[in-house]
Amino acid sequence: MFRSPFPRFIAALALSLSAALALAQTAAKPRVVILATGGTIAGAGATAANSATYQAAKVPVDKLIAGVPELTDVAHLRGEQVFKISSYSFTNEKLVQLAKRVSALTKDSDVDGVVVTHGTDTLEETAFFLNLVVHSDKPVVVVGSMRPGTAMSADGMAMNDEIHAGRDVAKRVNIKTNAFGSQWGPLGMVVEGQTYWFRNPAKRHTMGSEFDIDSIDKLRGLRSQGLQVVRSSRVGDGFVLRNSEQPDDKYDWVVAHDLNPQKAKILAAVALTKSSDSKELQRVFWQY
Ligand code: ASP
Repeated sequence: MFRSPFPRFIAALALSLSAALALAQTAAKPRVVILATGGTIAGAGATAANSATYQAAKVPVDKLIAGVPELTDVAHLRGEQVFKISSYSFTNEKLVQLAKRVSALTKDSDVDGVVVTHGTDTLEETAFFLNLVVHSDKPVVVVGSMRPGTAMSADGMAMNDEIHAGRDVAKRVNIKTNAFGSQWGPLGMVVEGQTYWFRNPAKRHTMGSEFDIDSIDKLRGLRSQGLQVVRSSRVGDGFVLRNSEQPDDKYDWVVAHDLNPQKAKILAAVALTKSSDSKELQRVFWQY
């Protein structure tokens, strides 16, 4: 069986496809589906010197898989091209479509795990969304890369070797290969194709989540729900405390705690599928 040591979470991994699949490596080869959405990991530049100038979302999933023949040593693979976009083109509709496909695959007894290849700009939002709404204990891994496979020193082999929780991970640097970090630290590492785990996510997620993509058809923004204000910080780390800098009770605002504004947007959109009550939204922000 294909089981990671901490199966019940959705991770955003700052590492390559091959390293991600090493997560799944057991005696029997796991059956893994790669859902390709585009991004730099599927990018192509004009020359090997073009590590930062290239076209994202060029290489189709089958070519991506064929480009790393060693993958078939560690898993039975098949790919599906879900989108071919840069990740800034992800919309709420696309998030729902992707999550429904991930959910369906995790329910398939012939599938042991799912890898989503994704552009890095909004990777953290998709990983957090899947973490909130996919009810499965099978591993779902979101991966990206900072350089296209055509570049010299492409980070298709490993990208800082770290495994991060989808809830906590954020893109912090947009030109270096150590682009991703979590203010509470990575959950583990991949070294020489082996995974090493050190932490478990503490917040509610996947099997412990009250949100399920199978019963969500549409995400709505705050405005269409009567406008709730969620207060988040543009500073990278730390958190917003209720009623500290602002009288949140008086204004009936919600605080995002340690979630950055882009993740607060995702959690608010998911929470609003159930309730638009500010106290209920605040409960969700404390728990997820
Ligand atoms: N613009 C690209 C994207 O987010 C960047 C990347 O993948 O690194 O799709």
